[in-house]
Amino acid sequence: MDDDTLPLPQEEGTSFFPDAGSVGRPISETEKPQHYKVLARKYRPRTFDDLIGQDTLVRILRRAFEVGRVAHAFMLTGVRGVGKTTTARIIARALNCTGRDGKGGPTADPCGVCPNCVAILEDRHPDVLEMDAASRTGVDDVREIIEFSRFRPMQGRMKVFIIDEVHMLSRNAFNALLKTLEEPPAQVTFIFATTELRKVPVTVLSRCQRFDLHRVPQDQLAEHFKNISEKEGAHFTSEALALIARAADGSVRDGLSLLDQAIAQGAEEAGAVSAMLGLADRGLIFDMLESVMAGKADQVLALTEKAYAQGADLRSVLTDLMEGVHLLSRFKVDSSLRESNDLPEMERSRGGSLCDRLSMSVLSRAWQMLLKGVAEVDAAPDRRQAVEMVLIRLCYSSVLPTPDELIRQLQGETSPVPAGNTSRAVSAFTAQSSSSGMASMSVPVSEGSHGPVVRSSLRLVVNGGAIIEHETPELVASEETEELPVPMPKSWREMVVLVGQEKEAWLHGILRHEAHIVRFGPPDLVLRLDDIVVRKRVQRTLSALLERLYPGQWRLDFSEEKGEPSLDEQGAQVVALNQQHAQNHPLIRAVMKRFPGARIASVHDRNLDDYGLPPEEMTPLGEDYAPDLDFAPYDADSINENDLD
Ligand SMILES: [Zn+2]
Repeated sequence: MDDDTLPLPQEEGTSFFPDAGSVGRPISETEKPQHYKVLARKYRPRTFDDLIGQDTLVRILRRAFEVGRVAHAFMLTGVRGVGKTTTARIIARALNCTGRDGKGGPTADPCGVCPNCVAILEDRHPDVLEMDAASRTGVDDVREIIEFSRFRPMQGRMKVFIIDEVHMLSRNAFNALLKTLEEPPAQVTFIFATTELRKVPVTVLSRCQRFDLHRVPQDQLAEHFKNISEKEGAHFTSEALALIARAADGSVRDGLSLLDQAIAQGAEEAGAVSAMLGLADRGLIFDMLESVMAGKADQVLALTEKAYAQGADLRSVLTDLMEGVHLLSRFKVDSSLRESNDLPEMERSRGGSLCDRLSMSVLSRAWQMLLKGVAEVDAAPDRRQAVEMVLIRLCYSSVLPTPDELIRQLQGETSPVPAGNTSRAVSAFTAQSSSSGMASMSVPVSEGSHGPVVRSSLRLVVNGGAIIEHETPELVASEETEELPVPMPKSWREMVVLVGQEKEAWLHGILRHEAHIVRFGPPDLVLRLDDIVVRKRVQRTLSALLERLYPGQWRLDFSEEKGEPSLDEQGAQVVALNQQHAQNHPLIRAVMKRFPGARIASVHDRNLDDYGLPPEEMTPLGEDYAPDLDFAPYDADSINENDLD
């Protein structure tokens, strides 16, 4: 693509041979006169000094011209509109300029008045050829160039081939080009531009001097737009210019075309520019933030209506709110920002006062909910409905107690944490927004000072979808086993684990789900398996496996005796037991009282193995399994959508 793509008219650079004298077409349907020149073109930089935001590139190129070591191939990369083809054209002039007296050599400061400079400025120099690889991708196109590169320049000192969007060339075209790049004729310079460097073959890249053109910082853009608008006789407020610079997202060209529009519409105030850009005005965004954080859903909906009536894109209302939350969070971590002149006065004052009233955890919860909300809006059939739902949820969640508030309240309601156990005392609830936008809380619980430390977690689903979760610290993994290559299994469960490790998937599944152990004690292994066909296959495969690993040490038999529950059944019992323990825990009871209608969704015991069973030495289903729960700090997992009923 040419560097002047939408919304500017295409330049003649898209044709291989420059079409002398044809200046840009007028802006399509508007009623601009033929001679109207869009700002991006009118103020296109003519010298390296005019380029904004590309200081490194300019410094290196200047130096190269000074010492007379200018590369024969350049690769200019960067997002659209940062000045890649503009830079290429300046290089072309710098290479060909003969100076005011017609005697000068290559220079980093092309004069702009010599015949070469003038011709290149007017895009009609016979030796400076621009090609848009987006429309001419084939090998024949490249051959044409190569053919031309064999002739001496007609008018200038150097033939310059500018190939824009070079990554679009076909593989064959690249190969054809490569030969010329390997031994470039002395009077030829290639300048490639691309937005997607990854797609350029490394063989080509390695033969080019590469420059990364950066997004131009907002303040620099705003300054640039200020200068230009003044030259155009327009008088924008600094807020309005800041909005345009923000929307330009680092692209000078995009920003200038917005400036064009703003001038044409006479939109010189922030409000008018916001309307033009489809943004809600900043004041409205702060009104919304305040209402959201106060949990006033009715006000928020009224403000949404207002933004909608003003023509704001409601999705961008959400992203603007995100930006607001981001700003408040930055205020939190760096209070000096509140005095920063880079920010409009309104954002500093209103943001500052709002920031003082909100905690970091509230802000990060709001951020996550908005982030998910934006994705929801994109997926929803009715964007407005989706936006409103996100905002309503945000209102409700913002008045939920913050985790630390809640834990303090609940601690007051339950018995105090025993002394001497403070390291595992409650220190924090953690909260995260769930995808439904409701808060979830982790209530960490650990076993007391006696017995092994059990890691378990509990999840409660509270009215409206909030989840409360508790968890204990992790059990330090036992260091037994895994010493020998194939240790002798000491229990039925270990034997099943072994079968799994031996990649006997079918056998493993059967032993886990259907087998009931009747007797386990070397050499006897007695199972109950009800299905005769299955039994035969198990007889064959398990015997073979045991014989291979422990020759002569095991004897497999089957019995009709009831035996123990299968491993799966035992796992289900543990789940029920955990649920029961959790239900009786004082803190959980306090939480349930606080959130009437809450129910325990699941209890996760981190100490359980793949079969949902605790370590065997803990006698899982015995009475002493009941954990003596205390509270301990814990970092919450993010909540999974599936956890919300
Ligand atoms: Zn010149």
